[in-house]
Amino acid sequence: MTCPRVEVRLDRVGRNARTLVDRLGSIGIAVCGVTKATGGSPKVARELLAGGVTALAESRVENVERLRRAGIATEIVLVRSPMPSQAERVVAAADISLNSEVDVIELLSSSAVRAGRLHGVVLMIELGDLREGLMPGDVLDAARRVASMPGVVLRGVGVNLACQSGVIPDASNMAELSAVAVCVEADLGVELELVSGGNSANLAWALKEPAETGRINHLRLGESILLGRDPLTRAPIAGLATDAFTVVGEVIESKIKPTRPRGSTGQNAFGDAVGDAVGIKGRDRSCRRVIVALGRQDVDPDGLEMPEGYRIVGASSDHLVVEAGCDAPVPGAELRFGVNYSALLRAMTSASVLTCFTDEAPA
Ligand SMILES: *Cc1c(COP(=O)(O)O)cnc(C)c1O
Repeated sequence: MTCPRVEVRLDRVGRNARTLVDRLGSIGIAVCGVTKATGGSPKVARELLAGGVTALAESRVENVERLRRAGIATEIVLVRSPMPSQAERVVAAADISLNSEVDVIELLSSSAVRAGRLHGVVLMIELGDLREGLMPGDVLDAARRVASMPGVVLRGVGVNLACQSGVIPDASNMAELSAVAVCVEADLGVELELVSGGNSANLAWALKEPAETGRINHLRLGESILLGRDPLTRAPIAGLATDAFTVVGEVIESKIKPTRPRGSTGQNAFGDAVGDAVGIKGRDRSCRRVIVALGRQDVDPDGLEMPEGYRIVGASSDHLVVEAGCDAPVPGAELRFGVNYSALLRAMTSASVLTCFTDEAPA
């Protein structure tokens, strides 16, 4: 089979989605399924929808367009603030976007009017993580301006934590978001449909008992559904599969070699000073070194989970060097690696990695 490839167990993705949708549904929180780590894969999107997510979310307009071309008609949210130069495409392909710049919303407004469409706006609030978001003191003014624009409708408010600075969603910052929602509603005399509390990093907060979710009724989940892990700790989430995605690479060399380089050394291809970093300190010994045809162009090597008995030595653009304990794989053998979010993202968006979808393998 073609290597390198990512094998996607769609059944596991679907079950993870269903489990989270059910758990959160019982406390009044709807799940929007985020496909961006898969580059907007229509197959993954359909699996999320079968698992009960109420909408899809993407970070890039070209991925939204890919989902539309595949015939997906569900509501799609653009979670990265639109590029002004793409306002028309955003309005044409996405139903809602998360926004923090009123001038950009003006462009969405005029594009929507020209296209005869109504575009949903969620205003993002900065509550500590310091990526996107209006400062809380500026929200009312922005909300009033959005409410007065044609072609757009204020669907809600939201926040994104953890991604930039690792700020943990907790009772305090979530209460702040609820308070912002209440304040906007009182000021405009409307009811906000979406109070979007965040991403997979919100799960520990959301599922803590007793539930104290305030006005928050929406989360945007990617990593937890795809990889079954809590991004704050990367610990597996109880009841979810962590192995829906596997990267497979092919062995191209397998030999007993010394563990220490010979000759004087400078920087390697990626600017690392070889030495401590690649674990060659200490006494020289011999071991089995295996080269896999898998490199930085295909995956983030630091995000690969080695198969049992293997240890990563290093990686360049096209070569992954691993030390093998006892096994002696021959050239042509395949090695299978678990992935973290970074390795998954690179593999699914790399033009040199094939994606294969499998359903439940026969027992
Ligand atoms: C990526 C992203 C998400 C999804 O994050 P996960 O940690 O994968 O659940 C949600 N919201 C925004 C704004 C994002 O950029």
